[in-house]
Amino acid sequence: MKTILVLGGGIGGIRTARELSKKIGNEDGIDLAKILVFEKQKKSLFAPSLTWMMVGKRESEQIQDDLTNIQLGGIEVVFGDIESVDPDNITVTSNGKSYSGDYMVVSLGADQTDIHEMSKLGHNYYTVEGAKSFYNDLKNFKGGKIAIVVSSLPYKSPVAPYEAAMLIDEYLREQGLREKTEISLYTPEVEPMTFAGKEISLRVSELMKSKGIDYFPEHKLDEADKNHLTFSTPDNQEVKKEYDLMAYTPKHVCPAVIREAGMTGETGWVEVNHQTLQTPFENVYAIGDITTIPLSGTESLPKAGVFAQYQANTVAHNITRQMHGKQPDKVFTAEGKYILDQGNGKATKVGGNFYSSELDIKETSAVNHWVKILQEKTWFVKHF
Ligand SMILES: Cc1cc2nc3c(=O)[nH]c(=O)nc-3n(C[C@H](O)[C@H](O)[C@H](O)COP(=O)(O)OP(=O)(O)OC[C@H]3O[C@@H](n4cnc5c(N)ncnc54)[C@H](O)[C@@H]3O)c2cc1C
Repeated sequence: MKTILVLGGGIGGIRTARELSKKIGNEDGIDLAKILVFEKQKKSLFAPSLTWMMVGKRESEQIQDDLTNIQLGGIEVVFGDIESVDPDNITVTSNGKSYSGDYMVVSLGADQTDIHEMSKLGHNYYTVEGAKSFYNDLKNFKGGKIAIVVSSLPYKSPVAPYEAAMLIDEYLREQGLREKTEISLYTPEVEPMTFAGKEISLRVSELMKSKGIDYFPEHKLDEADKNHLTFSTPDNQEVKKEYDLMAYTPKHVCPAVIREAGMTGETGWVEVNHQTLQTPFENVYAIGDITTIPLSGTESLPKAGVFAQYQANTVAHNITRQMHGKQPDKVFTAEGKYILDQGNGKATKVGGNFYSSELDIKETSAVNHWVKILQEKTWFVKHF
């Protein structure tokens, strides 16, 4: 029986395990392959819903599920920190025990680190705890200055800060506090979603403007204290801004265990074949946020769950073919759409083919908002 090691039980890892299980895991109640998922958390989080959580539209139990529920059809979860990875020998160590396999799929996402002691000053809404604590403060907020800060690049979900700002705007309007509040978004990016091209960036900027959200692109965070944020701009200006309540995107890094395994390239992330997601190591694939895939110019494929899922489908299909002695024949095309919720029950869709840069932005509609809710519900129904 073949063994496939799936590193990470997040969006990419779960989808990989499920797809493999559907194709090769189990037949007439007999397991045909062993699919081992390595994960440190007991609960799996659907992170795209965190922006709803930060404005009180979701509770933590609505956006997480118990990972033990995925253990069927040949899938087994090994809970615990992955301590080491040996890609040459397709071996993983967890809880002091070694596990070897025939194939390995790395989907360990991006680790979050604290810079400028931001965790003491604001709320990291990229976590359940941070989204929840932000909402607790928002509920008691009586007006003032709210800062949404992107603390460094690259970061996952390039629409999340924009979505967060617009949902906060909606919440404050409902509370009658909008007139008394300034919402500012600070980011080192040149414009919103630079990878999507000028037209889309402009549309998102206009959207923010129409809601009275102050947008400060090309603002690199240098310092933070209790009430101030200090940024530098490309013309070397020092810009000091006040805030009363702050939500931030943390600095993202590739998990240390993968760096230590010698699996990262010069970018600091795992570099893969852009169509097959193969790493330089035989029968070892990497998908999702842990990878970097260059697009045209200086842009890279955004770190997004939608791509982690399509990449998982590609890899699971090709591993199945290899197990049956066939040539892998599926390629990842970077086709994907991303939904930007704007509040008031409306959302817009951005996407297309990221490899050919054929991207567009759809009109704002209630339908897109419902599609986003449906994506969340389907995730849990389909995978748990
Ligand atoms: C606020 C927010 C909003 C978002 N909105 C969207 C959206 O609207 N659309 C969209 O497409 N994407 C969105 N995303 C991005 C999306 O969640 C990620 O791109 C996606 O989760 C990536 O999947 P992954 O499998 O690569 O990583 P993850 O889902 O992060 O999974 C990685 C897993 O590996 C585990 N792990 C890491 N290191 C170890 C270790 N040493 N040992 C054991 N386990 C380990 C982690 O615990 C985690 O469960 C959003 C993200 C955030 C934070």
